[in-house]
Amino acid sequence: MTIAERIAKIRASLPESVRLVAVSKQVSADAIREAYAAGIRDFGENRIQEAEGKQDQLADLSDINWHLIGHLQSNKAKRAVERFSWIHSVDSLKIAQRLDRLAAPLSVKPQVCLQVKIFKDPNKYGWQIPKLLADLPALNQCENLQIKGLMAIPPSGLAESETFALFDRARELAEDIEQQHWSHISMQELSMGMSGDYHLAVKAGATMVRLGTILFGKRSP
Ligand SMILES: *Cc1c(COP(=O)(O)O)cnc(C)c1O
Repeated sequence: MTIAERIAKIRASLPESVRLVAVSKQVSADAIREAYAAGIRDFGENRIQEAEGKQDQLADLSDINWHLIGHLQSNKAKRAVERFSWIHSVDSLKIAQRLDRLAAPLSVKPQVCLQVKIFKDPNKYGWQIPKLLADLPALNQCENLQIKGLMAIPPSGLAESETFALFDRARELAEDIEQQHWSHISMQELSMGMSGDYHLAVKAGATMVRLGTILFGKRSP
């Protein structure tokens, strides 16, 4: 199947309201053009440096929304704000505050998700739930960020039922936070679901799925 055929097939299987973010890490600029021609406007990258090269090659495709989905180191925060309209992987108060400070002089308001660790997972960045709840007042002060929702990534090795439970808990958490009516925190977006589990994420209420392998084929390890 071509990239366009894969996109058409996945798109047809998703509710219209779910945003398909094509994860283009390790994917060439040419393949990104193919996906663009097939209608994709949202692309996800996990490394700033790699993304910058491709963004420069694709500068003519000016209506692409670039999504940063990988852990962001604080020394690259400025480049992230300059280059991405979405940052899904805001995983600490410190990095949120840094992005907030950097955004003002650049006159941008990045759209961000807060990455949350629903289950214990030593390998993943993100807030544990109590810490996230405790940080909400400070996050609410980050007026240059548009806090849009949560991102959740299940640890590897979960059974399907556990994966679904994790996504479902993330949705509940977003609803709980939304109920608190913060002035600068909205919880409308749930970035969850990758090639292997997006069907479960969508069932649990994902609004953005981040798909790489299933669109572009296997990446080299
Ligand atoms: C690589 C990556 C994806 C896409 O994973 P696939 O299994 O290839 O669909 C999604 N989200 C994040 C954070 C990633 O790093």
